[in-house]
Amino acid sequence: MDSRRVITRGELFDASAHARIEVQGEGTGRIEQLSSVAARLAEKLCLPFIEVYRFAINQSPSAEGAVGRLPMISRKLLIEAIGETALKWTTSLARFTGAADLRNCTLLPFQGAIAAKRLVSPGRRWCPVCLEEMADSGIVYEPLVWRVSETLDCARHRRPLVDICPDCGKGTQSSLVANARVGCCRYCGSWLGRKAVSTEAPSQSLFALYCAQACEDLLALPQCVKDGESILPSSVSVSGLRDCFFEGNGSAMARRLGELPSQLNAYCNGEFPAPLHVFLRAGYVTGASMHQILVSQDFSVLGAGNAEAQFDLRRAEPRAYDQSHVDESLRAAILDGGGMSVLQLASQLNVEVVTLWRRSPKLAKELAIAHAAYIAKRSAKGQSEFVESVRTTVADLRSQGVNPTASEVKRLLGDAGIGLNPWKRTVVHELTGDVGPLERINRCEHHSGEDDGEQ
Ligand SMILES: [Zn+2]
Ligand SMILES: [Zn+2]
Repeated sequence: MDSRRVITRGELFDASAHARIEVQGEGTGRIEQLSSVAARLAEKLCLPFIEVYRFAINQSPSAEGAVGRLPMISRKLLIEAIGETALKWTTSLARFTGAADLRNCTLLPFQGAIAAKRLVSPGRRWCPVCLEEMADSGIVYEPLVWRVSETLDCARHRRPLVDICPDCGKGTQSSLVANARVGCCRYCGSWLGRKAVSTEAPSQSLFALYCAQACEDLLALPQCVKDGESILPSSVSVSGLRDCFFEGNGSAMARRLGELPSQLNAYCNGEFPAPLHVFLRAGYVTGASMHQILVSQDFSVLGAGNAEAQFDLRRAEPRAYDQSHVDESLRAAILDGGGMSVLQLASQLNVEVVTLWRRSPKLAKELAIAHAAYIAKRSAKGQSEFVESVRTTVADLRSQGVNPTASEVKRLLGDAGIGLNPWKRTVVHELTGDVGPLERINRCEHHSGEDDGEQ
């Protein structure tokens, strides 16, 4: 394919209007992953993926002019996870594919319900036999379930997923590269499907097989929630399990599922969402389905549980700290005007904020200063806007011959924060001349007879 073929954004829009692609596996736990949708879109348009990336996603102001220079796609790009990147890609790609909503091709519907950290595997994984069967059926795509970190096996073929190309031997495959093709190696481009695979590595365990199926059930949930149902916040799901199966005893539940009691309590209190393995272990032990745990919390009829299952304590393993990536992100955030705080950046990068401060003190400080200035500016702007809106409301009321009382102005502004925000309250009272009841009493006591009244 000629990667130098020059096209414009407009041409891409026109072409994609005729090349509507349908999300595969919709309505099931085998729904397509967003990277696969993106790669198939490029294939359908007969373009290298980088061209779709340049216009549909990257959208830098210089993209239109920079015909010769192609943008770089980050190797760490993770578009199926819960976060800003997934949100940006779902909206950008929806316009090009004609799909109403691509959120179900990512883990975004589980925001707040399951911990985002390590939910999606950093590299691609696939079932070679599934790929081959899809090729026979005519439509090849990569299901989202292959990217869920807790899925180790293919539920259909009861064998482990693969992450190393059998031809070139390279693993840690990025989801998207300049010439990404669905079902093909990101390095050598070889087709990754195989008719049959030697069974020297059958599925690891019954629990791994259970997880493979449960993760499919999980991905089907957001697509099948009925009216009046929703995916519950993590604290509700975990507390429900604790109360219904462990007599409200968080420590007992923690021991049973191989968690630290303090961690489990933090999940119950809603301090952090629980990681997926907690729900999978709970489902395996109790026989409760993903729908029961995460949606209905109705445990009246249960499947077969595995009361004897034992789990090792799972501690959060620290991820390798990528100094240059962190520094690069810090610099970008500073250049971006400090809209993001150091803490926000750290959580976006999945690193501890203390570690970030220790390892990149200078840049972190620079960002903190930029962010403080940004907040001050935004707050000043917000304040002057608020003062202006109060002034306008007061003037409007006066022009209608109405005495602008503080409560009337608050009602008209429809700003629920006024009652709680002392600064806003003072502004309203000052501009209306209507002192609040407490101030009125104070004034009467301190300035008896000296009421200044309205202008
Ligand atoms: Zn398979
Ligand atoms: Zn390869």
